[in-house]
Amino acid sequence: MTTHTPTTPTKSKRLSLQGMLTAFVVTVTFLLISILTWNSWNARTTTLNETKTATANMARALAQHGEDTIGGIDNVLVGLVETLEQNPWDSEHLDRMNMFMRQRVADLPLLHGLFVYDDKGRWIVNSQEVLRTEFNNSDREYFIFHRDHADRGPHVGPPVRSRSTGDWIITVSRRLEHPDGSFSGVVLATISMQYFRSYYESFDIGKSGAIFLATQNGTLLVRRPFDEKLIGSDVSKGSIFQHYSKHGPSGTAILVSKIDQVERISSYRRLDHYPVLISVALSTEEVLTGWREETIRYVSASVVLIVLLWIMGLRLIHQITIRERAQAELRIARDDLERMNGELAALALLDGLTGLANRRRFDAALDEEYVRAMRNRTPLALVMLDVDHFKKYNDRYGHPQGDECLRLVSRVLKKLQSRTGDLVARYGGEEFAILLPGTDIDGATVVAERTRAAIQELNIEHAENPGSIVTISAGVTSIVPVRSLAGNSAQDLVRTADQALYQAKESGRNRVCTLVSTVSDT
Ligand code: GH3
Ligand code: MG
Ligand code: MG
Repeated sequence: MTTHTPTTPTKSKRLSLQGMLTAFVVTVTFLLISILTWNSWNARTTTLNETKTATANMARALAQHGEDTIGGIDNVLVGLVETLEQNPWDSEHLDRMNMFMRQRVADLPLLHGLFVYDDKGRWIVNSQEVLRTEFNNSDREYFIFHRDHADRGPHVGPPVRSRSTGDWIITVSRRLEHPDGSFSGVVLATISMQYFRSYYESFDIGKSGAIFLATQNGTLLVRRPFDEKLIGSDVSKGSIFQHYSKHGPSGTAILVSKIDQVERISSYRRLDHYPVLISVALSTEEVLTGWREETIRYVSASVVLIVLLWIMGLRLIHQITIRERAQAELRIARDDLERMNGELAALALLDGLTGLANRRRFDAALDEEYVRAMRNRTPLALVMLDVDHFKKYNDRYGHPQGDECLRLVSRVLKKLQSRTGDLVARYGGEEFAILLPGTDIDGATVVAERTRAAIQELNIEHAENPGSIVTISAGVTSIVPVRSLAGNSAQDLVRTADQALYQAKESGRNRVCTLVSTVSDT
């Protein structure tokens, strides 16, 4: 009867609905993560680029400062070279020069001292009050450099600790020559390292930022953060110098320091007129702190959003599943109910003992066929059958055996039912009815006679009946119903058939009697 095929399209529909929801949640999640990643990456790039610009600007300003500082000192040296090469080094000139030097040092706070050495490194004149001639500076780097190089330009030497004061100083020197061009000595200016240190300290470069000043060949002069051990060390193999040797006099790059292993955004610049390199660098970690905090905030908010989205999505999917499962169950229950109703309805129309149509079904069919016959002007026949002396059968063989006899009789009646429109019913007790639409009295008589004979042939023992077997009597009638004022009805057909049956009984049983209805026009 009813199958549960409707669940198949429902299932696919449910899958697609939940699939769509899942796809939606996944897509939104993916979009959120993509946007977040893209935004965050952009913000990081922007921050780094801005920092690169800032460090490059700072490097330019620091280079200018270095240029001006060293240039100011070098100007003094140029003047001294001029004077020393033009005048004899007698006490009159040297005294005047000492005065001049002391005045210069007093005027320029960053100028630590001025010194003149002869071609043997002996102290000739300097900016100190008392000239201490016991020292000899022929071992100093700048002395050796000028003695061995004819170059007349300024020379920036490695930082040294002053022999006279013990302070860390940076040296700027020039070569002195005899008129014939041979080496005659060195003029030296010393710049207080403290001057650069305090200047570099005044910049805001964070906790891990770094600034350094180094000679072009990689000798470290000053570095912030200050570490005395590093002064004068060789940084030519460091990351900035390597970048410098590859990319030229100025540049910016993200580099990891070989000194402290900190990754920094570094900008360096070579001074235009002095063989000195300045570098300023900000720690990438510090620069990105703000960006990192912002990213963490965004990520946290997004995670909350995504979790909420998934919770809601999963809940919705769960709800849909529950609802649709309930609907499917409801559908199954309804189908079961319908099937059971159908079975009940069918049962209500069947006789429990014989399985034939029951009286209710017979009455309904009779009315229906009567109306149809009236409409179609076709005959409708009815055969009423009754088991002969059945009371006696019961009395002799017992009620259960009587039931069995009725079942056997019913089976024969069912078997004989030839046309689809025919209806065999148990009319009541041991009485049966055969409704034969479209059958006239002759046809119905044939059916009745055949039935009677078939029962006889069953040969069921019935000692109380003449012939000692079970027999039946039948009354037959047929009618072409017409609408008439007399108001003939289906029940007249039954009554007439009953009268015919009565006649059959009266005239000896085990026979068929026919009677035509008085109101029929057959
Ligand atoms: P007649 O030949 O005149 O028809 O005699 P009869 O004894 O058959 O007539 P009657 O109508 O007086 O008796 C019918 C009997 O059928 C009465 C009843 O005990 C029996 N009977 C009716 N229904 C059933 C049934 O369902 N099972 C059994 N075993 N007997 C039934
Ligand atoms: Mg009877
Ligand atoms: Mg009877």
